[in-house]
Amino acid sequence: MDYFKLLALQQMKLRREAMEKSYPKERECKLRKRKQQLLEEKRDLLVLEEKLRFHAAEIQTLQRNRQQTEQDISRMNSSLYEGDHSPKELQTIQHRLEGLETALQQQKEQCDENNAQACNRRQELRERRDALVERMNDYESKVEEYLAERGRLVEKLRQLDEQIEQFVRKLERSEREFFDKETERYGVEVFSALKKGRFCSSCNVLLESEVLSAVKEGRPGTRCTNCGRMILNVNDDNSDQ
Ligand SMILES: [Zn+2]
Repeated sequence: MDYFKLLALQQMKLRREAMEKSYPKERECKLRKRKQQLLEEKRDLLVLEEKLRFHAAEIQTLQRNRQQTEQDISRMNSSLYEGDHSPKELQTIQHRLEGLETALQQQKEQCDENNAQACNRRQELRERRDALVERMNDYESKVEEYLAERGRLVEKLRQLDEQIEQFVRKLERSEREFFDKETERYGVEVFSALKKGRFCSSCNVLLESEVLSAVKEGRPGTRCTNCGRMILNVNDDNSDQ
């Protein structure tokens, strides 16, 4: 039996496994989290906008109160010059007028302050909204990139599966049966190779000298006494020399 041919099949299968592992799951997770964040920010912004609308309504009320005070003052001013008032009445009116003027001043200040505040908040909100839109766009392009990458990977996997299938179809029945049996026992890594010339590449054990020489002589069917895999006389490419 040509074990080296079957080793080629193993390598394809290992490549497939690695490819499947490279599936950008982590990125998908990150993207999902990012979306969550963005939606939360959006909700926050909506709450702030609602507050701002409430604030605007308050400002309107304040302005109406202020207009009312102004009307009261002008009415009182004209009543000051209409009709006869006793000095005591005049004093009362003047006293009330002063009170109203003070109130008006306070209302004006309050209005100005609230207006300035609302203006700042509106500006801040606009900036945050713009930034959010930018981040949303960024997120969307990342999703597109991710989907494209995933699509490429799925296509590569499909091609590799086809290759493996074709390869398996060409095998002898006995080879297929042998490979399946070994796979059942050892997983995708059916064969071991030599690591640094003396270790089993699968379980990393230092091979006994008899095993080692049998492998190097190419005696078929030599197995690792530790993990039981058949060892082929090839160097493990992944080992760093
Ligand atoms: Zn081993």
